[in-house]
Amino acid sequence: MTDCIIVGGGLIGLLTARELVLSGCRVLVLERGRPGRESSWAGGGILSPLYPWRYPDAVSSLVAWSQQHYPQLARDLREATGIDPEWTRSGLLITDTGELEQATDWAWRQGVELESLEGEDIQRCEPALGIAAERAIWMPSVAQVRNPSLLRAVYDDLLIRGVTVMHDAGVTALQIEDSRIHGVVSEKGRFHARHVVITSGAWSAEVLSRAGVSLPVKPVRGQMLMFHASPLLLQRIVLHEGHYVIPRRDGRILVGSTLENTGYDKSTTDAARGELVRAATRLVPDLAAFPIERHWAGLRPGSPGGVPFIGKVPEISGLYINSGHYRNGVVLAPASSRLLADILLGRDPIVDPAPYRPDRQPAGSDMGMDCDDEGRKIDFV
Ligand SMILES: Cc1cc2nc3c(=O)[nH]c(=O)nc-3n(C[C@H](O)[C@H](O)[C@H](O)COP(=O)(O)OP(=O)(O)OC[C@H]3O[C@@H](n4cnc5c(N)ncnc54)[C@H](O)[C@@H]3O)c2cc1C
Repeated sequence: MTDCIIVGGGLIGLLTARELVLSGCRVLVLERGRPGRESSWAGGGILSPLYPWRYPDAVSSLVAWSQQHYPQLARDLREATGIDPEWTRSGLLITDTGELEQATDWAWRQGVELESLEGEDIQRCEPALGIAAERAIWMPSVAQVRNPSLLRAVYDDLLIRGVTVMHDAGVTALQIEDSRIHGVVSEKGRFHARHVVITSGAWSAEVLSRAGVSLPVKPVRGQMLMFHASPLLLQRIVLHEGHYVIPRRDGRILVGSTLENTGYDKSTTDAARGELVRAATRLVPDLAAFPIERHWAGLRPGSPGGVPFIGKVPEISGLYINSGHYRNGVVLAPASSRLLADILLGRDPIVDPAPYRPDRQPAGSDMGMDCDDEGRKIDFV
C-alpha cells in the first residue's frame, strides 16, 4: 500500500519523495515523460536567486536553508550513488550595480557575504571579464550544482531506497470523493493513496484544474546556450543586466537566459540564440573562439512574486502542492521539499509555512514582478 503519490518527477517531486521516504513513508512517483527532463534539467543550477535582494523574505528564508544544507545533500548523494552533483562554490560577480545600497542592506539583514568591488579588484576577481565596470557586487559564497547530474543522483538514490518512479505515467485525473483524495488515474492505471502531492512544475495548474482547484502557476520559457570552452577560461558566475555565464568544472560554459511568455511552447529561436551569444561574448570576449555545443529551452513554473506554493489544499483532504518555484527551483528544492514533508507529516516546520499556503492571496508587490524579453509584465494572477 502506498502512503503518498507524487505527481511529477522533476527536482521538486524527486526530492519531496526522498524527504518522505527518509521519514518512513511508502512513496510512488508518477512522471508523465522521463524523470528530470523538464525545467529542472533545463536550468542553470545557480544556488541563489540572480538579484536576491529583489525577492520577498519568504523566498530568502527557504534559499538560506537550502544553501546551508546543499553541501551535505551533494555529499550524501555522491556516496550513495557514485554520481557527483558537482556542488561548487564559484561565487557570483554582478557587474550592474544600480541597486548596490539595496543589495548591501539586504545582505546585512540576511547575514549573507556581499562585497562591493572597484576598479582593478573586479578584473582580479575574474580576469576573463570583458566588461569595464567601475563597480561590481561580489557574493563569494554563492555555489552551483550541475543540475542534470543532481537529478540523476536523486533518481538513483530513490531507486536504491526502493521507491518506484514510473515514467510515461502522466496523471489524467485525481480521484476525489467527499472532499477527500483517494488516489489518481494515470496513463499506467489507477493508484490509491491517502496523500497526493502535486509537483508538476509549469503544468501544476493544469493537473489541479481537474479537481476544480485553481493555482496561479504559469509557464515562463527560458532559453540557454552551452559553449564547449576550456576549464581555465572562467572561474566565477558572472551576471550583467539579466544575462549570466556559469562555468562548469569541465570547461563547459552555460549562458542564460531568456524570459518569455509563450505558453507551453518549448521551442528554441534564432533570436534568442543571437541575444545569448551577444551577451556571452560581451561578458567573456574569449568565448567567441569556442563552439556552441547546445541550445535548449525549458518552462519555469512561474508564480506571483516567485514565491512557491507549499502545503495543503484546504478544500480537499489529503491533497498537497509543492510548485511554483519559478526562477529558483533548484536552489529552493531542498528546503521546499523538507517543508512539504513537515506539513504532511505534522512535524514542526523548518520555517513558518504561512507565506506559501496554496490559498494565500497575492500581495500587491507579488503581481507581475517580472517582465518578459519584450518588456511586457508577466501577470501571474
Ligand atoms: C532556463 C532556465 C534556467 C534556470 N536556472 C535556474 C538556476 O540557475 N537556479 C535555480 O534555482 N533555478 C533555475 N531555474 C528554475 C528551476 O529549473 C525550476 O524552478 C525548477 O526546476 C522547477 O522544478 P519542478 O520539479 O517544479 O518542475 P519540472 O522540473 O518542470 O518538473 C515537473 C515534472 O512534472 C511532470 N508532469 C507534468 N504534468 C504531469 C502529469 N499530468 N502527470 C505526471 N507528471 C507530470 C513533467 O513532465 C516534469 O517532469 C531555471 C529554469 C530555466 C527554464
